[in-house]
Amino acid sequence: MQGVGFRPFVYRLAREMGLGGWVVNSPHGVVVEAEGPSDILRSFVLRLAQEKPPRASIHSLEFSFLDPVGHPAFAIRKSEAGGPPTALVLPDIATCPDCLAEVLDSADRRHRYPFTNCVNCGPRFSIVQALPYDRPNTTMAGFALCATCRAEYADPSDRRFHAQPTACPACGPHLEWWDTEGRLLADRDEALRAAAAAIRRGRIVAVKGLGGFHLMADARNEEAVRRLRARKHREEKPFALMYPSLGLLRTHCSITALEERLLDSPEAPIVLLRRGQAAIAPSVAPGNPYLGAMLPYTPLHHLLLGDLGFPVVATSGNLADEPICTDEREALDRLGGIAEMFLVHNRPIARHVDDSIARVLLDRELVLRRARGYAPLPVLLREAAPPVLAVGAHLKNTVAVTAGRAAFLSQHIGDLETLEATQAFERVIQSFERLYQVRPDIVACDAHPDYASTRYAIARNSAPLRVQHHQAHVLACMAENDLPGPLLGVSWDGTGYGLDGTVWGGEFFRVTEAGFERFAHLYPFRLPGGEQAVREPRRAALGLLVECLGETGLGREDLPPVAAFPVAERALLHRMLVRGINSPLTSSAGRLFDGMAALLGLRLTTAFEGQAAMALEWCADEARTDEVYPFPVAAAGPPHLVDWRPMLHAVLADLAAGTPTALIAGKFHNSLAESILAVAQLAGEAKVVLTGGCFQNRILTERTVHRLAAAGFAPYWHQRVPPNDGGIALGQILAAARAAWANPDSSP
Ligand code: ZN
Ligand code: ZN
Ligand code: FE
Repeated sequence: MQGVGFRPFVYRLAREMGLGGWVVNSPHGVVVEAEGPSDILRSFVLRLAQEKPPRASIHSLEFSFLDPVGHPAFAIRKSEAGGPPTALVLPDIATCPDCLAEVLDSADRRHRYPFTNCVNCGPRFSIVQALPYDRPNTTMAGFALCATCRAEYADPSDRRFHAQPTACPACGPHLEWWDTEGRLLADRDEALRAAAAAIRRGRIVAVKGLGGFHLMADARNEEAVRRLRARKHREEKPFALMYPSLGLLRTHCSITALEERLLDSPEAPIVLLRRGQAAIAPSVAPGNPYLGAMLPYTPLHHLLLGDLGFPVVATSGNLADEPICTDEREALDRLGGIAEMFLVHNRPIARHVDDSIARVLLDRELVLRRARGYAPLPVLLREAAPPVLAVGAHLKNTVAVTAGRAAFLSQHIGDLETLEATQAFERVIQSFERLYQVRPDIVACDAHPDYASTRYAIARNSAPLRVQHHQAHVLACMAENDLPGPLLGVSWDGTGYGLDGTVWGGEFFRVTEAGFERFAHLYPFRLPGGEQAVREPRRAALGLLVECLGETGLGREDLPPVAAFPVAERALLHRMLVRGINSPLTSSAGRLFDGMAALLGLRLTTAFEGQAAMALEWCADEARTDEVYPFPVAAAGPPHLVDWRPMLHAVLADLAAGTPTALIAGKFHNSLAESILAVAQLAGEAKVVLTGGCFQNRILTERTVHRLAAAGFAPYWHQRVPPNDGGIALGQILAAARAAWANPDSSP
């Protein structure tokens, strides 16, 4: 963005708004640190994008809220030279307004050209094969520029000066319309119009986009959406939608200013929006008060959705939990049983990049799936680290490598449950190492011995650094917030391998320079059936009941999770529970959520991870209450025990008294926030980090942050790095970096 008056613009705006801080050009782009009241900072972020100089374009705007440091007046700092000439690969950038105007202008030579881009927008990460980022090192290498494009490319005053993926209808990639046998039925604009017509007729169309295939169908057509669900083997997990315009989306959902900024940003993620009177098929997101929606982010999507004029389901082109498909020949094979037609093109995709998912929470962005638009922007560490490869966890896997101070977190890979996913995992590692030209000797992995990622790490290095799962969550949040210790880390999720051989997931750590102390955890209970209990919240409920009431708990036929099992099976489950047969002990907060959802009759079994906890959150959303249940912390540690049993007794009493479910769910969330505050008071650390999949829950996170802040603590949570296992690789990187910083001589 050099030379377009961006820094002076930031300076004037910050001065006008009375903010302190600085702006600087760095090898990573323009960095702004602005200090002031939080509502003014929020409007500063909005105005940065809205009022930027006409020639300036913001490729990507990531922001985080940090602690105030007492900046004097705002200043322009001298540019940062030096440092590694960062192997900075930009993420893929949504179509800019200039390119969109050309595509829609019937007099322009790029009229209706789906691969239009410029130096300010277009594919980057999804087409780069090697560095430096020049055309011969991208998948555009095979397209020779025509004379007109070459002139634009060479003209410093042109928007396409050195725009590596630039193309036009005369020299660039083109669309093709295929049947399921791969027979060419139409090409170019005719292909695009045929795809629109097919979707309008209720067909399922596989569309090759930027970082992979989408499966698209008319979101208003219940029959088409059901067919897509059945063929994709996706029973209940909500589908993402693509809307033709913000205007139409506004009539379907209620959208705040920050959500609007996010939808319309260069990252253009899927944003979880509270739905209003959305005229869409019930099967899109059954029983869900939110819709995941995005706006078109390539000219192809703009043209297709513009022709349609209604929202489409735009779900990843894959089968169940496999990685997204990127190649058209492979797509015929893998998606042939799902899609009825194929809209493809001949620009190869160098690597898969899924759509990112974000929500706005506490007036900030919270990225739940980090991929297109975000990856591979680095998180900067405090100091340079030795080269490290971190292989992440098992679910929602991502990997990361370091180069100097930069920690590059990969795009979302997925659950390492299938052969395809494991292969994608290895491909991403290879491509990252090739791109950044590193082959780290230090390999960090989860402490779980059976994860596919752990096995890979051991194959690479017989003694990898094993980082306990919940400690990695805390470290990820520390890295993202640039926080050193001491602090209290609250790490709540579904499941992670504990250092004592039990399943952890409701953990509190005191973090100092010296390391981690398990300061407190939820009172443990047994999960009958182990892994099976993850898909069956009713099993978690039985574990809770037996822990509280003994065998009589399993006689409570008035409770849905008890009634859900035949008497004979209950007796078997009881024997398993008391003898500890295939019934691991867990301190998991996620399983506590599951058990509670089952007791309230909201979900006895689940079709996808987190479904029961989400049902409990939505249920609590209907009740605005400040009431709490008793949730004492037994000060007999560390580790101290955070005892949910008195709460469970009170919940049973409420159920017996006919208290509305929503009120019980609300009190449950409040009680968890109260228990975190109680542990924070016991620990006495000013800074409290909230991390792990449970903090995707809006009510839990907002309530906990407010209660901690009101009591004088400084709470921190995630923004740009997912609180779920998608952030684990970054935490593993910081674990390795801290080890190296503490002991500089020992690194190889
Ligand atoms: Zn552009
Ligand atoms: Zn051309
Ligand atoms: Fe986790």
